[in-house]
Amino acid sequence: MKAENWGRSVVPISYELIRKDAVIIGGGLAGLTAARSLELSDGMSLAVLAPGTGASPYVHGFNIPLHEADSVACFINDTLKSGYYQSESQLVDILCSESLNLPSLLETFGIRFDRGEDGGYKLLRPLGASWPRVASVGNTTGVTIMKRFRAELAARENVTFYNTLRAMRLIMGDEGVANGVLAYDTKRQSWVCLKAKVVILASGGFGNIFPFSTNTDDIGGDGIAMAYEAGVPLVDLEFVQFEPSAAVYPQSLRGKGMITTLFYEGAVLRNTGGERFMLQYGPTGEQVDKDRLSQAIYREIRAGRGTAHDGVFFDATGVGRARLDKSYQLYVKRYADCGIDLAAEPVEIAPAPHTTLGGVAIAPDCSTKLSALFACGEVVGGIHGANRIGGNAGLETLVFGGRAGKAAGRYLSGMDRTPMSSQAWKTRLDELLNFVSSQEKKELLTAKRMVELRTRMEQLLSGSLNVVRCAADLQPAVAGLGEMLAGLDYTAVKDNGPELYRKLRLHNDLTTAYLLALAALERIESVGCHVRTDSVSESGERYRIQIRKGTGGAVVEKVPLS
Ligand SMILES: Cc1cc2nc3c(=O)[nH]c(=O)nc-3n(C[C@H](O)[C@H](O)[C@H](O)COP(=O)(O)OP(=O)(O)OC[C@H]3O[C@@H](n4cnc5c(N)ncnc54)[C@H](O)[C@@H]3O)c2cc1C
Repeated sequence: MKAENWGRSVVPISYELIRKDAVIIGGGLAGLTAARSLELSDGMSLAVLAPGTGASPYVHGFNIPLHEADSVACFINDTLKSGYYQSESQLVDILCSESLNLPSLLETFGIRFDRGEDGGYKLLRPLGASWPRVASVGNTTGVTIMKRFRAELAARENVTFYNTLRAMRLIMGDEGVANGVLAYDTKRQSWVCLKAKVVILASGGFGNIFPFSTNTDDIGGDGIAMAYEAGVPLVDLEFVQFEPSAAVYPQSLRGKGMITTLFYEGAVLRNTGGERFMLQYGPTGEQVDKDRLSQAIYREIRAGRGTAHDGVFFDATGVGRARLDKSYQLYVKRYADCGIDLAAEPVEIAPAPHTTLGGVAIAPDCSTKLSALFACGEVVGGIHGANRIGGNAGLETLVFGGRAGKAAGRYLSGMDRTPMSSQAWKTRLDELLNFVSSQEKKELLTAKRMVELRTRMEQLLSGSLNVVRCAADLQPAVAGLGEMLAGLDYTAVKDNGPELYRKLRLHNDLTTAYLLALAALERIESVGCHVRTDSVSESGERYRIQIRKGTGGAVVEKVPLS
């Protein structure tokens, strides 16, 4: 249906204006840590947009070199090696050395890492680590920390949580300066513009744009798309880490990961014929990096040796009931609730997108290319390189969340720029609102069409951007996603409320999928979790694929790593 007849009758967007000094997009561990660390002078205020909890409640623990034989140097070495030397080494140094601050930071909240009877820390050994290194707080590490941080922040008069606001676009003030956030209130179904002097992006990873992932529904492509639209360079988007062992059955557990530290305790993988297929890849079997495990499982399934639900068997029966009950209650209970005894029978798992290692390019203080925009947590890139060690993502949220908050506070207190006038800001906002809601001579975007576009996007992602990739699949994916995105720009919606919101969410997810496909096509060799079956060479060259928005579309560059 053509839109000309009804397009012009659509009313301009109305919105509520909220003025704050700082806005944080995201209420996961990174956003909360940034909020805690952001020092506000008297009279200043902070808004935290937290429409969900993201991946953070699932954090089982953090890597800290607390084992007597371990050291910061060894931790740095493991992290660089596991990342295939594609990380930004300065960021890795910060991550590993500042991990040692965590025990005392958390103790100020009365949170103590688990210790054994001998008084030493209880540490698990993640894949890719030389020593046991994951420190945790029972089985509720992420949840416990989030609760305490949130409670402390909620008690501060100058901090307001907005649990129904989803950020859709950054509002740009002067050239190259982030000056606020355009958000949608999903409860009241209306738009809100937050005017702020500084913005911190902490919206988590984008694994949820895939149809099958371990991520929650509140996270997705918004953060990457918002940064891209505002002109912020993005790096390493092609590095999507798959969780090798996400449940494919039973349905109620679909996407929930089985912890891979169990492979150091006697758990093994078997194909449908009962064969321990990982021994074909080397004598250490399942004790390899997550990316190698994912690739082997993916190939096993593709070769027709998978289970009824397109997975392989994760057999933890060799671990023993006593050990499972003592250290892995969460997983034992999860399956027991579905009538499955982990100590007695194998379960079906397959690789699923889990954490995204690429994202917003940051400096060590979490500043970005835009003035007044800082970023932290899974939405940033450059720390984990081409493969992440389990326990390093949670650590990243606390270390870099703290840095982002401090840097944003310094920015606020030292601001030498005259804030733009309200009238000038409103003009910029109006331009943005007109742009996102433009209805001139456009096709009507029906609900059916939106479903078709999302389904097609998901098919391209799981078909072409899965565990293994090749140019023959990536080229049509780039073309298809690019076409869908361009087509979406030429559609109009029936109303400027829920329909426009749904369109922008789809636009953000499609933008992120398109940029991911572009990056994956550009990196022509296999490295870490980015596996190209058509890879001609592995040069060992250290570079990043950087993408930014140019006047004619996405600009893709190969930038050498220092
Ligand atoms: C199942 C699972 C288990 C994991 N286990 C571990 C582990 O044991 N150890 C480890 O190190 N890492 C682990 N990870 C990875 C780790 O959890 C994440 O990398 C980390 O928690 C990310 O934190 P974050 O604060 O950056 O993002 P998140 O915790 O994902 O939070 C993102 C926040 O942004 C909000 N948000 C998103 N979009 C918008 C928007 N448009 N507007 C406003 N707000 C928005 C979300 O609602 C949420 O509040 C795990 C991940 C998963 C999925």
